Amino acid sequence: MNDSFKHHFHQLAQIGALPEGGVSRLAFTPEDKLARSWLLQRMVEAGLSVSTDAAGNIIGRRRGQKELAPVMTGSHIDTVPQGGNYDGAVGVLAGLEVIRRLNRENIQTKRPIDIICFSAEESSRFGMATIGSKAFTGNLDAEKARSLKDKEGVSLYRVLTEAGCTPDDLGHHPTLPVHAFIELHIEQGPVLEACHCPIGVVTSIAAPTRFKVILKGRSDHSGSTPMNMRRDALAGVSELILGVERIASREAGKNTVGTAGYAWAMPGSMNVIPGRVEVGIDIRDINRDDKEKAVKAIKSLMGDIAQKRGLTVSCDQLCHEEPVALSGKMVHLLEKAAHACKLESMRLPSGAGHDAMNMAKITDTGLIFIPSLGGISHNSAEYTPDKDIEAGIKVLHKTLLHLAQE
Ligand SMILES: [Zn+2]
Repeated sequence: MNDSFKHHFHQLAQIGALPEGGVSRLAFTPEDKLARSWLLQRMVEAGLSVSTDAAGNIIGRRRGQKELAPVMTGSHIDTVPQGGNYDGAVGVLAGLEVIRRLNRENIQTKRPIDIICFSAEESSRFGMATIGSKAFTGNLDAEKARSLKDKEGVSLYRVLTEAGCTPDDLGHHPTLPVHAFIELHIEQGPVLEACHCPIGVVTSIAAPTRFKVILKGRSDHSGSTPMNMRRDALAGVSELILGVERIASREAGKNTVGTAGYAWAMPGSMNVIPGRVEVGIDIRDINRDDKEKAVKAIKSLMGDIAQKRGLTVSCDQLCHEEPVALSGKMVHLLEKAAHACKLESMRLPSGAGHDAMNMAKITDTGLIFIPSLGGISHNSAEYTPDKDIEAGIKVLHKTLLHLAQE
Protein backbone atom coordinates (compact mmCIF):
# COMPACT_ATOMS: atom_id res chain seq x y z
CA MET A 1 0.00 0.00 0.00
CA ASN A 2 0.91 3.54 -0.75
CA ASP A 3 2.97 5.41 1.86
CA SER A 4 1.03 8.66 1.81
CA PHE A 5 -2.23 6.83 2.52
CA LYS A 6 -0.61 5.00 5.45
CA HIS A 7 0.93 8.19 6.74
CA HIS A 8 -2.42 9.99 6.67
CA PHE A 9 -4.26 7.02 8.16
CA HIS A 10 -1.88 7.01 11.15
CA GLN A 11 -2.06 10.78 11.55
CA LEU A 12 -5.86 10.72 11.66
CA ALA A 13 -5.80 7.78 14.10
CA GLN A 14 -3.83 9.98 16.55
CA ILE A 15 -6.64 12.53 16.77
CA GLY A 16 -8.87 11.49 19.67
CA ALA A 17 -6.71 8.37 20.29
CA LEU A 18 -7.35 6.69 23.65
CA PRO A 19 -4.64 5.31 25.96
CA GLU A 20 -6.45 1.94 26.04
CA GLY A 21 -6.57 1.80 22.22
CA GLY A 22 -9.10 2.96 19.68
CA VAL A 23 -10.39 6.45 19.18
CA SER A 24 -13.23 8.74 20.32
CA ARG A 25 -14.26 11.48 17.93
CA LEU A 26 -17.93 12.10 18.63
CA ALA A 27 -19.52 14.52 16.18
CA PHE A 28 -18.42 18.14 16.66
CA THR A 29 -16.48 17.49 19.85
CA PRO A 30 -13.03 19.18 20.01
CA GLU A 31 -11.45 15.93 18.71
CA ASP A 32 -13.81 15.75 15.75
CA LYS A 33 -13.26 19.43 14.97
CA LEU A 34 -9.49 18.91 15.08
CA ALA A 35 -9.83 15.95 12.68
CA ARG A 36 -12.05 18.01 10.39
CA SER A 37 -9.55 20.84 10.12
CA TRP A 38 -6.75 18.31 9.62
CA LEU A 39 -8.72 16.77 6.75
CA LEU A 40 -9.45 20.16 5.23
CA GLN A 41 -5.69 20.81 5.07
CA ARG A 42 -5.08 17.45 3.38
CA MET A 43 -7.73 18.29 0.79
CA VAL A 44 -6.09 21.64 0.07
CA GLU A 45 -2.69 19.91 -0.26
CA ALA A 46 -4.22 17.56 -2.83
CA GLY A 47 -5.21 20.59 -4.89
CA LEU A 48 -8.95 20.44 -4.13
CA SER A 49 -11.08 23.55 -3.71
CA VAL A 50 -12.79 23.07 -0.37
CA SER A 51 -16.15 24.23 0.91
CA THR A 52 -18.34 23.45 3.93
CA ASP A 53 -22.13 23.38 3.77
CA ALA A 54 -24.88 24.27 6.24
CA ALA A 55 -24.56 20.95 8.08
CA GLY A 56 -20.76 21.01 8.23
CA ASN A 57 -20.22 18.51 5.41
CA ILE A 58 -16.74 19.15 4.00
CA ILE A 59 -16.53 18.97 0.21
CA GLY A 60 -13.27 19.04 -1.75
CA ARG A 61 -13.58 19.42 -5.51
CA ARG A 62 -11.15 18.34 -8.21
CA ARG A 63 -12.16 20.35 -11.25
CA GLY A 64 -13.42 18.71 -14.41
CA GLN A 65 -12.93 19.89 -17.98
CA LYS A 66 -16.62 20.71 -18.22
CA GLU A 67 -19.21 22.32 -15.96
CA LEU A 68 -21.06 19.06 -15.33
CA ALA A 69 -22.60 17.47 -12.24
CA PRO A 70 -19.78 15.94 -10.17
CA VAL A 71 -19.03 12.34 -9.36
CA MET A 72 -18.82 12.10 -5.57
CA THR A 73 -17.16 9.76 -3.14
CA GLY A 74 -16.77 9.93 0.61
CA SER A 75 -17.80 8.74 4.05
CA HIS A 76 -17.31 10.12 7.58
CA ILE A 77 -14.57 10.63 10.18
CA ASP A 78 -16.65 10.96 13.36
CA THR A 79 -16.69 7.81 15.51
CA VAL A 80 -18.62 6.08 18.29
CA PRO A 81 -17.10 6.32 21.81
CA GLN A 82 -14.04 4.02 21.88
CA GLY A 83 -14.45 3.29 18.20
CA GLY A 84 -11.98 1.86 15.72
CA ASN A 85 -9.74 3.58 13.19
CA TYR A 86 -11.32 2.17 10.03
CA ASP A 87 -15.07 2.85 10.19
CA GLY A 88 -15.66 5.84 7.91
CA ALA A 89 -12.06 7.09 7.88
CA VAL A 90 -10.97 4.51 5.29
CA GLY A 91 -13.60 5.74 2.83
CA VAL A 92 -12.65 9.42 3.11
CA LEU A 93 -8.90 8.78 2.95
CA ALA A 94 -9.31 6.33 0.04
CA GLY A 95 -11.09 9.07 -1.92
CA LEU A 96 -8.19 11.44 -1.26
CA GLU A 97 -5.72 8.75 -2.30
CA VAL A 98 -7.54 8.34 -5.62
CA ILE A 99 -7.27 12.13 -6.16
CA ARG A 100 -3.52 12.01 -5.52
CA ARG A 101 -3.11 9.15 -8.00
CA LEU A 102 -5.08 11.04 -10.65
CA ASN A 103 -2.92 14.12 -9.98
CA ARG A 104 0.28 12.09 -10.26
CA GLU A 105 -0.82 10.55 -13.54
CA ASN A 106 -1.90 13.99 -14.71
CA ILE A 107 -5.33 12.68 -15.70
CA GLN A 108 -8.03 15.20 -16.58
CA THR A 109 -11.65 14.11 -16.24
CA LYS A 110 -14.72 15.53 -17.96
CA ARG A 111 -16.68 15.80 -14.73
CA PRO A 112 -15.48 17.20 -11.41
CA ILE A 113 -14.73 14.63 -8.71
CA ASP A 114 -15.84 15.63 -5.21
CA ILE A 115 -14.61 14.09 -1.97
CA ILE A 116 -17.22 14.56 0.73
CA CYS A 117 -16.75 14.06 4.45
CA PHE A 118 -20.25 13.80 5.93
CA SER A 119 -20.69 15.20 9.41
CA ALA A 120 -22.21 13.31 12.36
CA GLU A 121 -22.69 9.93 10.70
CA GLU A 122 -22.74 8.06 14.01
CA SER A 123 -25.83 8.40 16.20
CA SER A 124 -23.72 8.38 19.37
CA ARG A 125 -24.04 12.09 20.14
CA PHE A 126 -27.41 13.26 18.83
CA GLY A 127 -29.33 9.98 18.73
CA MET A 128 -29.76 10.20 14.96
CA ALA A 129 -27.43 8.59 12.42
CA THR A 130 -26.20 9.95 9.05
CA ILE A 131 -27.09 13.56 9.91
CA GLY A 132 -24.73 15.09 7.33
CA SER A 133 -26.00 13.04 4.39
CA LYS A 134 -29.62 13.57 5.46
CA ALA A 135 -28.94 17.32 5.35
CA PHE A 136 -27.07 17.09 2.03
CA THR A 137 -30.01 15.32 0.42
CA GLY A 138 -32.58 17.79 1.78
CA ASN A 139 -33.95 15.62 4.58
CA LEU A 140 -33.06 17.74 7.60
CA ASP A 141 -34.20 21.27 8.44
CA ALA A 142 -33.32 23.88 11.06
CA GLU A 143 -36.26 22.90 13.25
CA LYS A 144 -35.06 19.29 13.40
CA ALA A 145 -31.53 20.53 14.16
CA ARG A 146 -32.97 22.44 17.12
CA SER A 147 -34.80 19.37 18.41
CA LEU A 148 -31.80 17.00 18.23
CA LYS A 149 -29.90 17.26 21.51
CA ASP A 150 -26.96 15.48 23.07
CA LYS A 151 -27.13 14.13 26.62
CA GLU A 152 -26.00 17.49 28.02
CA GLY A 153 -28.97 19.13 26.29
CA VAL A 154 -26.83 20.90 23.67
CA SER A 155 -28.65 21.03 20.34
CA LEU A 156 -27.25 20.16 16.92
CA TYR A 157 -28.34 23.65 15.88
CA ARG A 158 -26.13 25.26 18.50
CA VAL A 159 -23.20 22.98 17.77
CA LEU A 160 -23.40 23.76 14.04
CA THR A 161 -23.60 27.50 14.71
CA GLU A 162 -20.57 27.32 17.00
CA ALA A 163 -18.68 25.43 14.30
CA GLY A 164 -19.29 28.30 11.90
CA CYS A 165 -21.98 26.49 9.87
CA THR A 166 -25.35 28.00 8.95
CA PRO A 167 -28.10 25.65 10.21
CA ASP A 168 -30.81 28.16 9.23
CA ASP A 169 -30.01 27.33 5.61
CA LEU A 170 -30.82 23.62 6.14
CA GLY A 171 -33.58 22.50 3.82
CA HIS A 172 -33.71 25.91 2.09
CA HIS A 173 -31.45 25.19 -0.84
CA PRO A 174 -32.24 22.85 -3.70
CA THR A 175 -30.21 19.64 -3.50
CA LEU A 176 -27.14 19.94 -5.72
CA PRO A 177 -27.14 17.67 -8.76
CA VAL A 178 -24.75 14.72 -8.36
CA HIS A 179 -23.92 12.44 -11.29
CA ALA A 180 -23.16 9.42 -9.08
CA PHE A 181 -21.99 8.61 -5.56
CA ILE A 182 -19.66 5.80 -4.50
CA GLU A 183 -18.83 5.03 -0.87
CA LEU A 184 -16.03 2.73 0.26
CA HIS A 185 -16.57 1.33 3.76
CA ILE A 186 -15.42 -1.56 5.94
CA GLU A 187 -17.99 -4.37 6.04
CA GLN A 188 -18.38 -4.34 9.86
CA GLY A 189 -19.50 -7.95 9.54
CA PRO A 190 -17.81 -11.35 9.03
CA VAL A 191 -18.99 -12.40 5.55
CA LEU A 192 -16.15 -11.22 3.25
CA GLU A 193 -13.43 -12.61 5.49
CA ALA A 194 -15.25 -15.93 5.82
CA CYS A 195 -15.61 -16.13 2.02
CA HIS A 196 -11.97 -15.05 1.43
CA CYS A 197 -13.30 -12.33 -0.84
CA PRO A 198 -11.59 -8.90 -0.90
CA ILE A 199 -14.43 -6.87 -2.44
CA GLY A 200 -18.09 -6.74 -1.48
CA VAL A 201 -20.54 -5.06 -3.84
CA VAL A 202 -23.52 -3.96 -1.80
CA THR A 203 -26.92 -4.49 -3.43
CA SER A 204 -29.16 -3.05 -0.73
CA ILE A 205 -29.08 -1.53 2.73
CA ALA A 206 -31.26 -2.90 5.50
CA ALA A 207 -33.40 -0.54 7.54
CA PRO A 208 -34.46 -0.93 11.15
CA THR A 209 -37.85 -1.02 12.82
CA ARG A 210 -37.45 -0.54 16.58
CA PHE A 211 -39.81 -0.98 19.50
CA LYS A 212 -39.72 -0.22 23.17
CA VAL A 213 -41.99 -2.83 24.73
CA ILE A 214 -43.21 -2.75 28.32
CA LEU A 215 -44.79 -5.84 29.85
CA LYS A 216 -46.50 -5.35 33.20
CA GLY A 217 -47.59 -8.04 35.65
CA ARG A 218 -47.42 -7.86 39.41
CA SER A 219 -44.50 -7.80 41.81
CA ASP A 220 -45.05 -10.40 44.50
CA HIS A 221 -43.13 -12.33 47.14
CA SER A 222 -40.96 -14.96 45.48
CA GLY A 223 -41.53 -17.39 48.36
CA SER A 224 -45.21 -17.15 49.17
CA THR A 225 -46.72 -16.81 45.68
CA PRO A 226 -47.56 -20.22 44.13
CA MET A 227 -46.35 -20.79 40.60
CA ASN A 228 -49.87 -20.88 39.14
CA MET A 229 -50.81 -17.52 40.70
CA ARG A 230 -47.98 -15.41 39.35
CA ARG A 231 -47.92 -12.61 36.79
CA ASP A 232 -44.20 -12.65 36.07
CA ALA A 233 -43.31 -9.99 33.49
CA LEU A 234 -39.72 -11.20 33.07
CA ALA A 235 -40.81 -14.76 32.28
CA GLY A 236 -43.13 -13.23 29.66
CA VAL A 237 -40.34 -11.15 28.18
CA SER A 238 -38.08 -14.23 28.06
CA GLU A 239 -40.67 -15.92 25.89
CA LEU A 240 -40.84 -12.81 23.72
CA ILE A 241 -37.06 -12.65 23.26
CA LEU A 242 -36.86 -16.28 22.16
CA GLY A 243 -39.81 -15.58 19.86
CA VAL A 244 -37.94 -12.68 18.21
CA GLU A 245 -35.00 -15.01 17.62
CA ARG A 246 -37.20 -17.74 16.18
CA ILE A 247 -39.20 -15.41 13.93
CA ALA A 248 -36.10 -13.63 12.57
CA SER A 249 -34.11 -16.79 11.99
CA ARG A 250 -36.81 -19.10 10.63
CA GLU A 251 -40.18 -17.50 9.99
CA ALA A 252 -39.60 -14.17 8.19
CA GLY A 253 -37.14 -13.71 5.28
CA LYS A 254 -33.69 -15.16 4.67
CA ASN A 255 -32.01 -11.82 5.49
CA THR A 256 -34.16 -10.86 8.48
CA VAL A 257 -32.28 -10.16 11.72
CA GLY A 258 -33.97 -9.52 15.05
CA THR A 259 -32.37 -8.49 18.33
CA ALA A 260 -33.63 -7.82 21.84
CA GLY A 261 -30.76 -5.55 22.87
CA TYR A 262 -31.74 -4.97 26.47
CA ALA A 263 -34.30 -6.00 29.07
CA TRP A 264 -34.69 -4.08 32.33
CA ALA A 265 -36.60 -5.93 35.02
CA MET A 266 -38.22 -4.07 37.92
CA PRO A 267 -37.85 -4.01 40.82
CA GLY A 268 -34.75 -6.09 40.06
CA SER A 269 -34.47 -8.06 43.27
CA MET A 270 -33.81 -11.79 43.59
CA ASN A 271 -36.68 -12.32 46.04
CA VAL A 272 -39.34 -10.37 44.14
CA ILE A 273 -41.29 -11.58 41.11
CA PRO A 274 -40.55 -9.00 38.38
CA GLY A 275 -43.67 -6.88 37.90
CA ARG A 276 -42.48 -4.70 35.04
CA VAL A 277 -39.97 -5.24 32.25
CA GLU A 278 -38.91 -2.94 29.45
CA VAL A 279 -37.29 -4.57 26.42
CA GLY A 280 -35.80 -2.98 23.29
CA ILE A 281 -36.34 -4.84 20.01
CA ASP A 282 -34.57 -4.08 16.71
CA ILE A 283 -35.72 -5.79 13.48
CA ARG A 284 -33.86 -5.28 10.19
CA ASP A 285 -34.22 -6.50 6.67
CA ILE A 286 -33.35 -5.43 3.14
CA ASN A 287 -36.77 -6.62 2.01
CA ARG A 288 -39.69 -4.51 3.12
CA ASP A 289 -42.28 -7.32 2.96
CA ASP A 290 -40.12 -9.74 4.96
CA LYS A 291 -39.55 -7.10 7.61
CA GLU A 292 -43.28 -6.36 7.72
CA LYS A 293 -43.95 -10.06 8.18
CA ALA A 294 -41.50 -10.26 11.11
CA VAL A 295 -42.93 -7.12 12.75
CA LYS A 296 -46.48 -8.44 12.47
CA ALA A 297 -45.54 -11.83 13.90
CA ILE A 298 -43.69 -10.25 16.83
CA LYS A 299 -46.59 -7.93 17.64
CA SER A 300 -49.06 -10.78 17.60
CA LEU A 301 -46.74 -12.85 19.80
CA MET A 302 -46.67 -10.01 22.37
CA GLY A 303 -50.47 -10.10 22.54
CA ASP A 304 -50.53 -13.89 22.95
CA ILE A 305 -47.94 -13.87 25.72
CA ALA A 306 -49.73 -11.07 27.58
CA GLN A 307 -53.06 -12.87 27.39
CA LYS A 308 -51.70 -16.24 28.43
CA ARG A 309 -49.78 -14.83 31.39
CA GLY A 310 -52.21 -12.15 32.60
CA LEU A 311 -49.85 -9.31 31.66
CA THR A 312 -50.50 -5.99 29.98
CA VAL A 313 -48.36 -4.91 27.07
CA SER A 314 -47.55 -1.50 25.63
CA CYS A 315 -45.49 -1.16 22.49
CA ASP A 316 -43.91 2.10 21.38
CA GLN A 317 -42.56 2.06 17.80
CA LEU A 318 -39.40 4.19 17.86
CA CYS A 319 -38.61 4.05 14.16
CA HIS A 320 -39.76 2.33 11.01
CA GLU A 321 -37.38 2.93 8.12
CA GLU A 322 -37.50 1.78 4.52
CA PRO A 323 -34.78 -0.54 3.18
CA VAL A 324 -32.83 0.96 0.28
CA ALA A 325 -31.99 -0.88 -2.95
CA LEU A 326 -28.81 0.44 -4.55
CA SER A 327 -28.49 1.19 -8.26
CA GLY A 328 -28.16 -1.86 -10.52
CA LYS A 329 -25.93 0.20 -12.80
CA MET A 330 -23.48 0.81 -9.95
CA VAL A 331 -23.52 -2.85 -8.85
CA HIS A 332 -22.58 -3.82 -12.38
CA LEU A 333 -19.91 -1.10 -12.69
CA LEU A 334 -18.27 -2.07 -9.39
CA GLU A 335 -18.20 -5.74 -10.37
CA LYS A 336 -16.62 -4.81 -13.70
CA ALA A 337 -14.04 -2.62 -11.98
CA ALA A 338 -13.13 -5.41 -9.53
CA HIS A 339 -12.80 -7.86 -12.42
CA ALA A 340 -10.56 -5.44 -14.35
CA CYS A 341 -8.35 -5.16 -11.23
CA LYS A 342 -8.18 -8.99 -11.09
CA LEU A 343 -9.98 -8.96 -7.75
CA GLU A 344 -12.72 -11.31 -6.74
CA SER A 345 -15.98 -9.71 -5.68
CA MET A 346 -19.29 -10.87 -4.27
CA ARG A 347 -22.69 -9.24 -3.88
CA LEU A 348 -24.04 -8.81 -0.39
CA PRO A 349 -26.59 -6.76 1.56
CA SER A 350 -25.56 -4.26 4.22
CA GLY A 351 -27.08 -4.84 7.64
CA ALA A 352 -25.79 -1.47 8.90
CA GLY A 353 -26.91 1.96 7.75
CA HIS A 354 -24.53 4.21 5.77
CA ASP A 355 -24.49 7.68 4.22
CA ALA A 356 -24.92 5.88 0.87
CA MET A 357 -28.56 5.09 1.75
CA ASN A 358 -29.41 8.80 1.82
CA MET A 359 -27.41 9.55 -1.33
CA ALA A 360 -29.34 6.76 -3.10
CA LYS A 361 -32.41 9.00 -2.88
CA ILE A 362 -30.84 11.65 -5.13
CA THR A 363 -28.42 9.82 -7.44
CA ASP A 364 -27.06 6.50 -8.70
CA THR A 365 -25.24 5.14 -5.68
CA GLY A 366 -22.75 2.33 -5.14
CA LEU A 367 -21.26 0.94 -1.92
CA ILE A 368 -18.00 -1.03 -1.82
CA PHE A 369 -17.24 -3.17 1.22
CA ILE A 370 -13.79 -4.39 2.23
CA PRO A 371 -13.27 -7.09 4.89
CA SER A 372 -13.38 -6.44 8.63
CA LEU A 373 -11.18 -8.91 10.49
CA GLY A 374 -13.44 -11.15 12.60
CA GLY A 375 -16.35 -8.91 11.64
CA ILE A 376 -15.37 -6.64 14.55
CA SER A 377 -16.45 -2.99 14.38
CA HIS A 378 -17.42 -0.08 16.65
CA ASN A 379 -14.57 -1.42 18.75
CA SER A 380 -10.90 -0.50 19.14
CA ALA A 381 -9.97 -3.93 17.75
CA GLU A 382 -11.46 -3.01 14.35
CA TYR A 383 -8.94 -4.02 11.64
CA THR A 384 -8.68 -4.31 7.88
CA PRO A 385 -5.38 -5.52 6.35
CA ASP A 386 -3.46 -3.08 4.10
CA LYS A 387 -3.84 -5.31 1.05
CA ASP A 388 -7.63 -5.21 1.38
CA ILE A 389 -7.62 -1.41 1.69
CA GLU A 390 -5.44 -1.22 -1.41
CA ALA A 391 -7.90 -3.48 -3.27
CA GLY A 392 -10.75 -1.16 -2.26
CA ILE A 393 -8.79 1.92 -3.43
CA LYS A 394 -8.13 0.28 -6.80
CA VAL A 395 -11.81 -0.50 -7.39
CA LEU A 396 -12.82 2.98 -6.23
CA HIS A 397 -10.20 4.55 -8.54
CA LYS A 398 -11.37 2.61 -11.60
CA THR A 399 -15.04 3.29 -10.94
CA LEU A 400 -14.65 7.02 -10.24
CA LEU A 401 -12.51 7.47 -13.33
CA HIS A 402 -15.09 5.70 -15.48
CA LEU A 403 -17.99 7.74 -14.08
CA ALA A 404 -16.08 11.03 -14.34
CA GLN A 405 -15.57 10.47 -18.08
CA GLU A 406 -19.29 9.84 -18.76
ZN1 LIG B 1 -19.31 4.14 9.21
